[in-house]
Parts: sequence; structure tokens; C-alpha cells
Amino acid sequence: MDRIDLHTHTTASDGTLRPTELIKLALNVGLTALGVTDHDTVDGLDEALRTGRDLGIEVVPGIEISAEFKPGTMHVLGYFVQPDEPVFAEKLRVLQEARRTRNPRIVEKLNALGFEITMEEVAAVAGGGQVGRPNFARVMLDKGYVTSMDEAFDRYLTKGGPAYVDKFRLSPADSIELIHQARGLAVLAHPFTLGLDAPGIQALVADLVGQGLDGLEVYYSEHDESKTRTCLDLAARHGLAVTGGSDFHGDNKPEVALGSGIEGNLAIPRELLEALRRKWREAVNPS
Ligand code: AMP
Ligand code: ZN
Ligand code: FE
Ligand code: FE
Repeated sequence: MDRIDLHTHTTASDGTLRPTELIKLALNVGLTALGVTDHDTVDGLDEALRTGRDLGIEVVPGIEISAEFKPGTMHVLGYFVQPDEPVFAEKLRVLQEARRTRNPRIVEKLNALGFEITMEEVAAVAGGGQVGRPNFARVMLDKGYVTSMDEAFDRYLTKGGPAYVDKFRLSPADSIELIHQARGLAVLAHPFTLGLDAPGIQALVADLVGQGLDGLEVYYSEHDESKTRTCLDLAARHGLAVTGGSDFHGDNKPEVALGSGIEGNLAIPRELLEALRRKWREAVNPS
């Protein structure tokens, strides 16, 4: 079976591998296609697409938008986005500015909690790309303030935690629209991080379908069989595209392996990408 991974991060956001290193790893683990989906940025896509062409592996240009949502976390993946579409590019700049405003405030909160951490240290571990919370967690771990990345999140950085600082986000509808503006398909990522039970997810997805949602991330590192089944049923009910990915972040999420998830729980068939592409062609070329 040809296997793929449609959800990965590079140093352009909070992954630890550069785009080229990620593509090489994908080849090494035997994948035939890779979706590159950095948070709120397309800065890694040029390098990823170029390396993919050079090495003979398909790279699907993507993004992962952080949307406004309570009680949990909503991320909307975009696939086959056109990185240089002007309105898309401008809105991404706004989201990146919101991050740059937030990050020093996280440093202030960590300092007030007694941790000696500077913005320069955090930027340094981000590898030149955009800074995200895993980069703060990494510095806390490296300095011995916590014993794992998870501890840094659970005790300090998680939503509502003592070092958490909110940032401007697009609404779910605006996130979907932004992806469509870039001629991409909008896919709800890891539906179980929304903080809803299965009926809650079902109701929300029905709403999002009304707002133009194109697909659902069914296969995911943190999904057991029951979660996978719930998502698969929901996608079928609404005629949504089915996607899957590991959410690989390199050493920033060491338990997650590219293409194979947590303890080998993932094996995503290439057919999903072909179906996604068909849906995309119909959407961008309605005839
Ligand atoms: P940011 O976009 O800077 O707010 O950071 C979001 C990133 O933090 C995501 O990629 C998640 O993988 C990671 N993250 C968020 N919450 C947690 C958590 N509770 N434990 C571990 N990682 C988390
Ligand atoms: Zn991330
Ligand atoms: Fe996500
Ligand atoms: Fe992700």
C-alpha cells in the first residue's frame, strides 16, 4: 500500500525539521506524498515543493489555521492552497503579527512565575521560523524547569494555564473562507481537540458544512478506533473528504512518528489524497 501523511510541521512554524529535512525523512520512511501544514504560515512551502520535485515525492501545499473556538482548540487545515494569492498572504500577515504581539507576553508571564527565559532564547530554538508555544516548552525543558514538553503545557502553557496568553484568531467561517480565497480545500483538523463530545462534534460539523467545510481529518495520531469511526461516519454523512495525518513536529512532539503516528497506529492510504484532489479539481474548476 502507498502510504502518505497529510499533516506535518516544519521550522517555518513549530516543527524541528527544516522543510528539506522533513521531505528526506518522508522518503526514508517510505511515504509517497506529504502534506506540509504549518500553523498560520506558508513560508516553508517553497522549499518543501522544490525538494519534493527534486527527490520525487509529491508535496501537497497546505496550512493549518488556528480558529476562534471555545471550549477547546479548533484548527482548520487548508490543502492545495496557492501561497502567493494576495488576499490570503495579507491575512496571514495579520495572524503572524498577532503571534508576534502575543509571544513577549508569554515571556513576561513565565518570568513572573520565576522562570528566567528571554524572547531571544525562544526565537533561537524556533530555527528562524514563526514562534509557537512548543518553542517556549522546549526552552523550559532545556533549562530544566520541566521534565517534559507535556509538563510545560499541562502546568503552564495550555489554554487557561498561568502562562497562557490569547491571540487574535479568525472565526471558523472566516478561516474556511480564507482557505477558499487561496483556492484550497478546508478540512477540520483533529475534531476531538474541540473539547466537545461526539454529539457536540456532530452538531458543529453540520454548522461548518453550511459554512463551506470540505473535509474532515479522520485518521490522526491521537485517535483510537472509536474516534476514527465517529469521524468516518460523520464525513460520510456530509459527503466530506476524508484526510489523515500524524501532526508530526519532530522533537517538539517526540512521541509522534512521521507517517506512522503514535506507536505505529497510523497507515494512511494514498487513495485519500487522490479523492481529495478530485474534490479540489471540482471545487476550483466548477463546470
Ligand atoms: P500556538 O500556535 O503557538 O498557540 O501553539 C500551538 C501548538 O502547541 C500546537 O502545535 C500543539 O501541538 C501544541 N499544543 C497545544 N496544546 C498542547 C498541549 N496541551 N500539550 C502539548 N502540545 C500542545
Ligand atoms: Zn504545532
Ligand atoms: Fe493542530
Ligand atoms: Fe498540526
